[in-house]
Amino acid sequence: MLFPRAVLPSLLHLTPEWLASRGLKGVILDLDNTLLPYGEEALPPEHEAWLKGLREAVPIYLLSNAMPERFARLQAKLGLPGHAPALKPWLGFRRALRALGLPPKEVAVVGDQVFTDILGGNLVGAYTVLVPPLKEREFFYTRFIRMLETPFRRTKGESA
Ligand SMILES: [Mg+2]
Repeated sequence: MLFPRAVLPSLLHLTPEWLASRGLKGVILDLDNTLLPYGEEALPPEHEAWLKGLREAVPIYLLSNAMPERFARLQAKLGLPGHAPALKPWLGFRRALRALGLPPKEVAVVGDQVFTDILGGNLVGAYTVLVPPLKEREFFYTRFIRMLETPFRRTKGESA
């Protein structure tokens, strides 16, 4: 449940071709430290170009544990469906799947955290994709969580 189906060296490796070759037709995307650095509100330029290409190919749903005001600002800027706070890993994924109108096995759940994005995506039977975090948070709590995540930051054996 904690192992991702795939581990990518960066978000930019998640291309329409990569998705299509795995039968994936939609994406549930994490926001903080996946699409943009934690706590910031501007996308890195290369992510902006990446997002433009991806959203032309497949529907994207933003699922974030961010605070609602900040999420609303970002969502308005990006113009994508989504909701926050999602209370990942337990809540939010089924609502996201319903919004996409796709069965779980046709949806990639993409994020930087094992215990929220990957666990939550695996629990609903989606295709989970782990990417490296954009910016490490300095909080002790997050460093502790990262340490617990370390054994799971790889696929379970079969390469995806
Ligand atoms: Mg994140």
